[in-house]
Amino acid sequence: MSGIENLLSGFRKFREMYFEKAPGLYRDLLSHGQSPRFAVVACSDSRVDPAIVLQTEPGDIFAVRNVAALVPPYEDDGHYHGTSAALEFAVGELGVDHIIVIGHARCGGIEAMVHKQEGGKAGGKFIAAWTDLLREARERALAVDPGLEGDALLGASERQAVRLSLDNLTTFPFVREAMAAGDLSLHGWYLNIFDGALEIWNPGTEAFERLS
Ligand SMILES: [Zn+2]
Repeated sequence: MSGIENLLSGFRKFREMYFEKAPGLYRDLLSHGQSPRFAVVACSDSRVDPAIVLQTEPGDIFAVRNVAALVPPYEDDGHYHGTSAALEFAVGELGVDHIIVIGHARCGGIEAMVHKQEGGKAGGKFIAAWTDLLREARERALAVDPGLEGDALLGASERQAVRLSLDNLTTFPFVREAMAAGDLSLHGWYLNIFDGALEIWNPGTEAFERLS
């Protein structure tokens, strides 16, 4: 992909597909409104677009993307909470059945957090404050295996970050209420972009299990 012209060419293909050849999908999505069953929290990383990775159609997923696929804890402080606002809409207005947090290998946000925790220079002002929310992911990884370092520590921290976001999700009253009513399930996935594998968190075995 190079140049804006490629993007415009991509849009023309999209228009041809969804507005000329098969206009029914958007006609329905506009007349009935969107009703995605899935909210996905994914990283902004250009390699892990959930609509591409999961091969979904327009209307299938409500996607929240940010640095490191992070769900912050619930905070009732009147500040600006973009991710929390999106999740509130997904659960409260759209009534999604599932929230899926998708972490990934070689996550720059996790790497920045680990680097800073190890005494390195912090990244940008906003990045450092945001990824500080994930400090505990590195601590949890080291609690499991104190000998971890380098890429192994990054990989373990990336997976623990998914679990931390799942824990943070349950600090939101509207998430807890929907779960208690049996209307909402939480899922933690890890996209290993080294070998094209998806690992799914299994709370029963407390392990990420590779999708066959
Ligand atoms: Zn990332």
